[in-house]
Amino acid sequence: MNYVHRSITILMLGVAFGMLSGCNHETSVKQSAETMPKPTLAKQLFGKTADGTAVDLYTLSNEKGMEAKITNYGGIVVSLKTPDRNGKAGDVVLGYDSLDGYLKSSPYFGAIVGRYGNRIAKGQFTLDGTTYKLAKNNGENHLHGGIKGFDKVVWEAKEVPNGNSAGLQLTYLSKDGEEGYPGNLSVTVLYTLTNDNGLKIEYTATTDKKTVVNLTNHSYFNLAGSGDILKHELMLNADKFTPVDKTLIPTGELKSVKGTPLDFTQPTAIGARIDQPDEQMKFGGGYDHNFVINGAGSLALTASVYEPTSGRVMDVYTTEPGVQFYTGNFLGGMVGKNGQAYQKRTGFCLETQHFPDSPNKPSFPSTVLEPGKKYETTTIYKFSTKPMTP
Ligand code: BGC
Repeated sequence: MNYVHRSITILMLGVAFGMLSGCNHETSVKQSAETMPKPTLAKQLFGKTADGTAVDLYTLSNEKGMEAKITNYGGIVVSLKTPDRNGKAGDVVLGYDSLDGYLKSSPYFGAIVGRYGNRIAKGQFTLDGTTYKLAKNNGENHLHGGIKGFDKVVWEAKEVPNGNSAGLQLTYLSKDGEEGYPGNLSVTVLYTLTNDNGLKIEYTATTDKKTVVNLTNHSYFNLAGSGDILKHELMLNADKFTPVDKTLIPTGELKSVKGTPLDFTQPTAIGARIDQPDEQMKFGGGYDHNFVINGAGSLALTASVYEPTSGRVMDVYTTEPGVQFYTGNFLGGMVGKNGQAYQKRTGFCLETQHFPDSPNKPSFPSTVLEPGKKYETTTIYKFSTKPMTP
């Protein structure tokens, strides 16, 4: 199938799931969008990059009223509509209405981040005696894969019927030497919208030369859809975090959250302690820290966020050992979807990941990928609602 040259083509996957008796592939394809059995996946042209490459926007929907729009430019989650406690769907991620917005400037809204998500100190690391130099695109450090990271490339897209879910598979070959990293890295990201309102992201990668990899998704969430995120209540399944220096590079220590504003082991409003005088909070300008997930490895509950006015709940599950909790401290000055002016703390990120600067921190879980081995991680953002508490 030619994905690049097809424009405004709605492609419905003939998925009937035995719910409509006698419904075969042909009859389901003929149905209108409204009567289509869900989940479904549709595709339309989103725009063109500066070099004229066509980019598409894929709409994944399920039978519970959830809808995700994802583009193959940067693998960006452009919108994510989930029902509130009254069943009314609303968009819970920040971003732009058009591809142009993302092309002009974006603080990684919704994007796949790589080859190395988060910071690498002084933009360099050494593998087997060879030092690799990367762009210093964040003060003296390297951030989120460099000047043109995975958030700014066009991925190959393939629609993947995935059982009871709608799936979109994105692939990208990051060439040996790209942004200074060694090895041809072949990356696959599978987005699946499940019928229990989960957006599942499965990342896999292989290389032909020893390299480092740390992939994540940089969605900024606001479960109320607008306003600031300070009243969202957060639980983080993390007894420790990796404290940072003033350039946000971890010191190497794993520190207990007890007695600090970073203790979210019990659900706490994000804004409750954000302005407390604390060196770590000062360095981050708010929360911008990697948390060490308790009992990491299995697809465990890592974080849970509840927004009291909409009743929306987002549970995050991941196989990763860490999660960067970032409160949009550097947001501001951009106009996003529907003309919304995004300010500092209009959104928060929960970037599941390996720890920042792992290539230079031998005591941290390794981010090295060797030829013949497979990088494999999974993260699920799962949505539900809670009734109003009296
Ligand atoms: C980082 C922030 C950074 C932001 C860029 C986050 O992942 O932790 O420090 O400013 O990405 O949008």
